[in-house]
Amino acid sequence: MPFDSVESILNTCREQDKPFWAVILEDDIHERGTDREESFSRMKQLWHNMLQADETYDRNLKSASGIVGTDGGRMLDYLHSNDSLCGGFIGSVIAGALKMGESNACMKRIVAAPTAGACGVLPAVLIPCYHRFGCPESRILEALYTSAGIGQVIAYRASIAGASGGCQAEIGSASSMAAGALVQLRGGTPEQIADAAAMALKNLLGLVCDPVAGLVEVPCIKRNVIGAMGAVAAADMALAGIRSNIPADQVFDAMREIGDKMDASLRETGFGGLAATPEGIRLRDRLS
Ligand code: SF4
Repeated sequence: MPFDSVESILNTCREQDKPFWAVILEDDIHERGTDREESFSRMKQLWHNMLQADETYDRNLKSASGIVGTDGGRMLDYLHSNDSLCGGFIGSVIAGALKMGESNACMKRIVAAPTAGACGVLPAVLIPCYHRFGCPESRILEALYTSAGIGQVIAYRASIAGASGGCQAEIGSASSMAAGALVQLRGGTPEQIADAAAMALKNLLGLVCDPVAGLVEVPCIKRNVIGAMGAVAAADMALAGIRSNIPADQVFDAMREIGDKMDASLRETGFGGLAATPEGIRLRDRLS
């Protein structure tokens, strides 16, 4: 049976003296009745799809609605010609999240991790590590296993769908997964991975799903940026030895409770929040 808690993953890591990613890999092998080679090959394909989606971003493309597109290119130009406030690595994270979110809105091929709306978060933090820090592909794959383990527990205990849990369940879950992946990549302990996953999601609890005109465009694309940046901050805090006062599993449970209390207008219906602002309604009416 797949893991239903981060605590059970941590216990397995301790009992078997294995890293977080290896425990998730073995669980995958067991669950799908496959072998190590096939599992890695599948994960590698996902990673290559992420890389390809990033590389084939079209900076001139607008979505069918005409509302979004081109901001990834705008961010890259800014980074190349200015001394950005965030600096090179975070600048790349911002650009990467925008590019992937826009590619999704433009119907290009992306990797839904965990969902299409939140597809920009994981690649936005992993691709700059791969290119800028020269992280070997094998380490990236390990980080992806760790992120999958976190996502699996969130899906079991709470939700990864905006329609049931609000945007906290999409961008929040992606941020949590990305934070854990980064700690894995930087050689952190399983406990630090759990702390990073908890801290990243804590910062996005309560985030509602309010897509303008019901499209996964506004505010979705820019929320990928915040999810990715939050993941970097949470990972660095955890690696510094800062603990999450609330354990990861309890944060996930809190997310479920908050999602259950969220009004239906704030769960992907496009009737509340930013979708219900005068400008949100104007854009919706223009498209109908
Ligand atoms: S606002 Fe809704 S549709 Fe957009 S990314 Fe968040 S959960 Fe997904």
